[in-house]
Order: sequence, then structure tokens, then C-alpha cells
Amino acid sequence: MKRELFVLYLLLPAVLFFSGCQAMLTSTAKVTTQAEKVGAIRPSTAQSIQKSTSAVSKSVEEFTPEQEYYIGRSVAAVILTKYPPYTNQTANEYLNLLGQTLAQVSDMPEIFRGYRFLVLNSDEINAFATPGGHIFITRGLLRCCRNEDAVAAILAHEIGHIQLKHGIQAIKKARVTDALTTIATESVRVLSPNEVSKLTETFGGAITDITNVINSGYSRSFEYGADDAAQTILRRLGYDPNGLVEMLMVMGKNLKPGDAGFAKTHPAPQDRIDEIQRKLGGKYSPVQTPKARQARFMKAVEKI
Ligand SMILES: [Zn+2]
Repeated sequence: MKRELFVLYLLLPAVLFFSGCQAMLTSTAKVTTQAEKVGAIRPSTAQSIQKSTSAVSKSVEEFTPEQEYYIGRSVAAVILTKYPPYTNQTANEYLNLLGQTLAQVSDMPEIFRGYRFLVLNSDEINAFATPGGHIFITRGLLRCCRNEDAVAAILAHEIGHIQLKHGIQAIKKARVTDALTTIATESVRVLSPNEVSKLTETFGGAITDITNVINSGYSRSFEYGADDAAQTILRRLGYDPNGLVEMLMVMGKNLKPGDAGFAKTHPAPQDRIDEIQRKLGGKYSPVQTPKARQARFMKAVEKI
């Protein structure tokens, strides 16, 4: 890594922490433009960092990326008490490689501690995204995927929920003011483990709000919004948007009314297919996956 690039990575978090909303945008623009000028980063990278900062700044009056991360981490911990991780290294490495690649072309490529992806050891057809970047997908849902385009579609949908801040919006308004007043003086530095647990206590209600919504389901408009974001991400990487349609077809067959997971939390698969096809303006045609892509998909999740 070039020295200038390294300096940029050291500088950027400081810029994010110690600046106000507008100042943050200006400072980020200055640092990235300078880094671009000295050849430390490509213009496209500079652009994506600025884009990401701009997206974050819209919600900066409410929660900072660091606060979102700590809230999200507690939500993730709650999810993991219900669903144990699937400790298959090959599957998890594959999921992370694919997920990180998708996240990098999303409208929010940079978040406080980055994105993390994990397979859950459950037959339920389900996936979760917490504020701050934790994304979980069950073995049951992975079994609905016939190709990498389908897995990419699920991960892109979950990245969409994070990017659109759906989880954080689930926090009841009364709690937002309460939580922000308490942590107002603690947010400008890295927190100690004791402070983190104190923060978790403070955010107890917020974490419950988000966990409840994750378990009961977002509104239909949020779900279609995440599908739209997914389509954009998939197109940027050259994945077939029909990957999501194909996965939803398999899911439609596998889901039984009254099932937990996606049957309860998401619009019916056929409704989502209709909406996606309406926006794509075309009929479904089978995904043509390149051989090498299909081979790595089979190797990683064939026996899931
Ligand atoms: Zn969703």
C-alpha cells in the first residue's frame, strides 16, 4: 500500500469523528481529492468514499456510524442467541468474499467497521442485516440458491437494508432523543469495553425495537426499496438481475404458509417477482452463469 494511501486511511476516521455534518463532507472531499491528486487512490475510489460520506451525513444528526455499529453489534448478538453460526470455513469465506465485493459497489461502500457476513446453522429460510454492517444468511435460504447470482441477490438486498438505514429507522422516536442525550459526550472517541456495555444498556430499548422489527418484518415499501438497491448493486457487478427472480421462485416452492422467517417477514415471493419484473420491463429468462462462477459456487455451498 502506498504511504499516501495509508495516511488517507488513518486520516479518514479522524475526519469522520471530529467534524460536524457539513464540515465532514468538506473535509472528506479535501482529503480524497488530495489523495487522488498524488495518485494514492483512483478517481473512482475517491468518488465512492465521498458518496459514502454523503449518504452517512444525511443521518448524522441522529446516529453516528460508530453508534450505529455498536447498536448493530448488540442486535447481532441477540440474533446469534437464537441462531447458532454455521462453522463451515469454506462457506463463510465464500460468503464474505462475495459480500465484500457487492458492498464495495453499493452506495455505501465504507462503514465504521466494515461489513461482515456469516452463515447461520438453521433450516429456516431467513436473512438478517443489522445497522453497522452485520449480515446473516441461513443454510435454509442458501439452499434456495441455484447459482452465485442468487446468493449475490440476497446479500445485495441485505446491504440495501443497511444502506437505506431501515434498521435504525425502526427505533422509536422517543428513544432516539433519550439515547442521543446520554451519549452526546461519548461519541468522539473509541470506547472501552466497559463503556460499550454501558452504551448497550443505554441502547437497550433501541436494540429491542430493531430486533422486533427484524423478527416481525419491515414495511412492504422498505422491502421493495431493498430489492431496488439490490438490482442496482447486481447490475454494477454484472450479475443477472434475474438471479433474484430465480431465487424467489425456488423460495416460493419451499416456503409454507405460517413458516417463520421470510414467509412472515417479507412480501410473498410472487409479489416481489411481479414488482421486479415490472421494473425490469421484461420477462424472466434463465440466468446464464459463466462456468468458472458456477464451479466456485458449487464448491462453496453445494453441500450446504
Ligand atoms: Zn428484506
